Amino acid sequence: MGRIRVLPDAVANQIAAGEVVERPASVVKEMLENSLDAGASAIRVEAESGGRRMIRITDDGHGMLRDDSMLAFERHATSKLSSLKDLQSIATLGFRGEALPSIASVSRLTLETRSPEETTGTRVEIHGGKMIKCEEAALAAGTILTVRDLFFNVPPRKKFLRSDQTELAHIASLVTHYSLAHPDKTFELYHDYRELLQVTPVASLRERVFQVFGAQVLDDVIDLGTREVELKLPPPHPHAEPVAAEDLVRPFLLRGFVSRPQVQKYNRSSIYLFVNGRLIKDRLLLHAISAAYYNLMPPGAFPFALLFLDCDAEEVDVNVHPSKTEVRFRHSSFVHDFVRDAIRGSLIESRPASALPMPEPPRAQPAAALPYSEFTQTLENARLELPEWRSVLPEPAAGPDGVADADLPVFSGGRIEPRIELPSPAPAAPPVDVAPSRLKVPNHHGGAPAGVQLDGMPSLDVLKDLRPIGQLHESFIIAAGRDGLWIVDQHVAHERILFEQVLKQRAAGRLEKQQLLIPMVVELTASQQIEYARIADELGANGFESEPFGNRTIAIKTAPVDVKPSQIESILFEILEVAERELRGASLDELRRNIAASIACQAAIKINMRLDQTRLDWLLARLAECEYPTNCPHGRPIALRYSTREILKGFHRI
Ligand code: ADP
Ligand code: MG
Repeated sequence: MGRIRVLPDAVANQIAAGEVVERPASVVKEMLENSLDAGASAIRVEAESGGRRMIRITDDGHGMLRDDSMLAFERHATSKLSSLKDLQSIATLGFRGEALPSIASVSRLTLETRSPEETTGTRVEIHGGKMIKCEEAALAAGTILTVRDLFFNVPPRKKFLRSDQTELAHIASLVTHYSLAHPDKTFELYHDYRELLQVTPVASLRERVFQVFGAQVLDDVIDLGTREVELKLPPPHPHAEPVAAEDLVRPFLLRGFVSRPQVQKYNRSSIYLFVNGRLIKDRLLLHAISAAYYNLMPPGAFPFALLFLDCDAEEVDVNVHPSKTEVRFRHSSFVHDFVRDAIRGSLIESRPASALPMPEPPRAQPAAALPYSEFTQTLENARLELPEWRSVLPEPAAGPDGVADADLPVFSGGRIEPRIELPSPAPAAPPVDVAPSRLKVPNHHGGAPAGVQLDGMPSLDVLKDLRPIGQLHESFIIAAGRDGLWIVDQHVAHERILFEQVLKQRAAGRLEKQQLLIPMVVELTASQQIEYARIADELGANGFESEPFGNRTIAIKTAPVDVKPSQIESILFEILEVAERELRGASLDELRRNIAASIACQAAIKINMRLDQTRLDWLLARLAECEYPTNCPHGRPIALRYSTREILKGFHRI
């Protein structure tokens, strides 16, 4: 007897559910997409306990006819696609007909729906894929889908769920961003009966951004407007089927917002990409965004971006993954360059407004603010404290027509005395430098506004000629350079020097380390032990040689030369903590950068510390040797420069 069997539907659905339904937010995503496909103008999402206990989505869309409401739970049952040809030009968000049967197979689901064409509605109940009930019900037109006890019959999957807060954050992020994609619709989100988001229809994306994030964010972002480009396809081969001329022109439209370069995030979670209205993840577009900020942001820092790319359905394949979160572009490098140049162009055109310290005008309260404090907080922190001084970003050299400084703010006021607020000496949050390898983007031609030289890599040689004049507040080095006056943050500068030194020595496999006279015994918590076991070898290669020493304790025998014995324990704990939080599954390269960042931050000279002339000279000379002397491993600027030109302007000499 043969061994191969066709799987029963129930099993096939659960397998599909593994791909489509990963967590409560995936249910929300599929259902939001269904409601939008059903032409809903108001969508309400309710969740309990992070969506594990209950998720309910109510819409006022076209509902389902009675017969359809049963059919919808059959595998590959969809109203959105009927032939193979349709698959090449999908205009709806759904098309695979997998979501409803998949979700129904791993939860207790109730569907209540009525099409305006019928006088009574239908209620269907399915538990773990088994039909429990199907009855007539008096319902308003539209659809209510309630999903309870997600994964109740698949315990291993249930275990993968994170805390209620984390699951809720994923749901909130989804609803928020779908609300941004549809400013003309009402969206509501409630968690455990608490309102988290409530937005009413508005006329523009800008107003929706205001509703959701508040005025602060609008100040920190640049509106791309609508950028358009046309891809011209070559005419078909003379023997092939003829194609109408207009079909050979493929327009691409890009809208949305990107943050000003000063806003720096340490991961990609603030980048939202929509292609033809579908929220997706896409490496190509992520790369295009990074490329747009190349030289404007340190490697490893990411902007906030909310981008909507629209194109001919035939230009993009959405059927790449069952969860429909990935796409493949037919002309990928064209799309990449278009997105990169559009963003880059906007960044250059919009000079950040001159931000002399002025009393803040009272701000209107946003209509509904999500608990996005973390988000706005980061934006806040990322603002330069001395906005009228230029942060030392590489800048384009003066072009032949004398256009210099085109992409950077130019000091425009007459006020020179900067307001300096010393950061508190305590080190900030533990450093995280999960930078990908530095992007190397070749110079490109075209795409830039006339007269602006985009990729003129500046020479950082000027750093070599810096002459330290003295120290301000025992924290900042004041230096004279060929091109103006410089202020260097001594802690951050030293941090960068040490960071690169550790990475370089690690890469060469010869880290300078010191033998500790007495091994240092450190006690670890259970989770630290797990992390330690995972990264002990790498720690050893970075100078921290250690060995297990009894239960729960380790003995550290060596440390990198720059580290003081009193700092060893806190560096180690910091590495273990960040490794656990951020770097699970991260690459070895990221782990190495993180270790180097921790060592550098702790071992670097602090602020509020007097430095003698020799040390000032030494520090600037070493900084000049750095490969990336503009930002610390966490992306903070190292130096501010007040160019000669600005000084002359300030004194009305030019
Ligand atoms: P798909 O969206 O890929 O077609 P689903 O399994 O998500 O597959 O949904 C199956 C079908 O159920 C859809 O094609 C649609 O006809 C119907 N449907 C699902 N949700 C709704 C809704 N909220 N309003 C109206 N019809 C819906
Ligand atoms: Mg669907």
